[in-house]
Amino acid sequence: QALSAPVAQSDGDLRSPICCILGHVDVGKTLLLDKIRQTNVQAGEAGGITQQIGATFFPAEVIEQKTASFSSRDRINVKVPGLLIIDTPGHESFTNLRSRGSSLCNIAVLVVDIMHGLEPQTLESLQLLREQKTSFIVALNKIDRMYGWRAQPNGAFCSSFQAQPAATQSEFATRVADIITQFAEQGLNAELYYENRDKRKVVSLVPVSAVTGEGIPDLLSLLVGLAQKHMAKRLTYQSMPECTVLEVKVTEGAGTTADVVLTNGMLYQGDRIVLCGLDGAIATTVRALWTPQPMRELRVKSEYVHHKSIKAAMGIRISAPNLQKVVPGSRVLVVGPGDSEEAMMEEAMRDIASLHNMVKKEPRGVWVQASTLGSLEALLGFLHRSNIPVFDINIGPVHKKDVMRASTMRHKAPELAVMLCFDVKVVLDAQRVADEKGVKVFRADTIYRLFDKYTAHKAAVAEQKKKDNTSQAVFPCMLQMASSDAAIKHSNPLVLAVDVVEGQLHQGTPVCVARTDPETKASEIISLGNVVSIKANNKKATVVRRSDALSGVTVCIECPPNLKPRTFGRHFDHTDTIYSLMSRSNIDVLKEHFRDDVTQDDWKLVSKLKHILGIQ
Ligand code: GDP
Repeated sequence: QALSAPVAQSDGDLRSPICCILGHVDVGKTLLLDKIRQTNVQAGEAGGITQQIGATFFPAEVIEQKTASFSSRDRINVKVPGLLIIDTPGHESFTNLRSRGSSLCNIAVLVVDIMHGLEPQTLESLQLLREQKTSFIVALNKIDRMYGWRAQPNGAFCSSFQAQPAATQSEFATRVADIITQFAEQGLNAELYYENRDKRKVVSLVPVSAVTGEGIPDLLSLLVGLAQKHMAKRLTYQSMPECTVLEVKVTEGAGTTADVVLTNGMLYQGDRIVLCGLDGAIATTVRALWTPQPMRELRVKSEYVHHKSIKAAMGIRISAPNLQKVVPGSRVLVVGPGDSEEAMMEEAMRDIASLHNMVKKEPRGVWVQASTLGSLEALLGFLHRSNIPVFDINIGPVHKKDVMRASTMRHKAPELAVMLCFDVKVVLDAQRVADEKGVKVFRADTIYRLFDKYTAHKAAVAEQKKKDNTSQAVFPCMLQMASSDAAIKHSNPLVLAVDVVEGQLHQGTPVCVARTDPETKASEIISLGNVVSIKANNKKATVVRRSDALSGVTVCIECPPNLKPRTFGRHFDHTDTIYSLMSRSNIDVLKEHFRDDVTQDDWKLVSKLKHILGIQ
């Protein structure tokens, strides 16, 4: 069933803005979308809303009707043909809607739960919006959850708000003030949209409820108003086709198909197209263009409507041979008359090449793999900001060969023998090889969860290394004795009452005194043995730091069999200072694995000891 071809728009007309919805998990993105899509039959709304592939189209008339609850003064005059809202909320669709690195999403709604404020993924979304320089408004969702809220279904926010009890109004004011502060902490000015006089510079907050529909008229009118007021240039229809792959999937009876968003121009059945593939560029011919059946046409058997041509902006499913390896998030290039297909194939692969160029590949770093170009780019940006070095990257499912390459890090830097995999499958064989080779494969579908897994792993590796090196860790300390009564036992074991005057005294530390021969002036290091036990304030202790300011510290020093036992009063006395007996390798171990446990003052003592003990 073929529909007649739409009339091509001419360059210069406005096209529909494309809108994405972002936010933390559970803030209500999906429900909000459903509520916006819902046709209010009682209010006599037109059913012109059409579900497209991956997007929903709201024609101008529907937006006008949905915002009719505004007073005539606030009502907007819709100049764009409509609004195209991307159906899959979250990072994925936003990050994939790109063309040559810039976002095809014209305006975004960042959803924040008014009861929770800014959450980890809200911050991630903010970062993405900033990087792509995308304008956005904030939907403060779940206003109906505030205590005592009296719902006015589908109403404009201000009239709903006036109907609320004073206590609810005051709770609202407190919560909004908090959220404004949280935005300020992120370096952003935000205000309730109806108090916002500079909507281009100050973020607008729109209170809504996805359950009662309150505030949705405000949200829609603000979205369209902002888009047509400030983005006229970007929304000017261009006849040059501009198209991006959102998803590649198998459609029954049609093999592998690509779901795309056509943001400009027209696509025709029979068009020759070029796409970026996992193993190289793909040139193919459009066999069919589909959109879903309009909701009312339930009697029609086929699920999809077949089009001879489609005009932007629109979500479309493309059927064509050889789409299996198309990289989601990459562009669809349409070969025009006089275009060189070969040159376009090279151009299509630039999407991946530019990512490889963007990332600074380090000889020691983690492996990064993601399902789509957009998510890989977002993840790389995040790792860069978090100072996590990247060794190499790939797109698509994790195969054995990826693991083999990542495993080369096992010998260079075991803590970095890690694969950070964003929303990708790991084939069975690959997981087995990873286990064999000791490569950690972390999978997650949000960046912050992936980051948490990596940081936990890094901490565990550091802790293990500490354990492995404990015997080699000698901490610097300096002990003094008050008087000739300091010796409780004079020889093997020595038991001495001391003060920790600098550094930290650990059980197990080898100690010494440094004496200078009065005649030859030669210095001599007299090794006393190892601290086998410590008592502080009459209790056993394993560590005593100078800063612990403890009185009454006694140490028991035992002489190992290979050393000559020393006697207090003969080989040394209370005027001697006792030091940790450190070596160069002990210092290296401290630097490498115990940096967090050594203070600035301790390092000063280390340098003093280097001098006293003659360490190079
Ligand atoms: P998403 O993960 O952001 O897509 O969140 P969902 O749309 O799945 O919503 C998460 C939960 O919050 C669900 O249980 C919703 O019913 C609930 N929810 C979403 N919006 C609202 C709202 O405005 N008010 C209330 N009371 N609950 C909401």
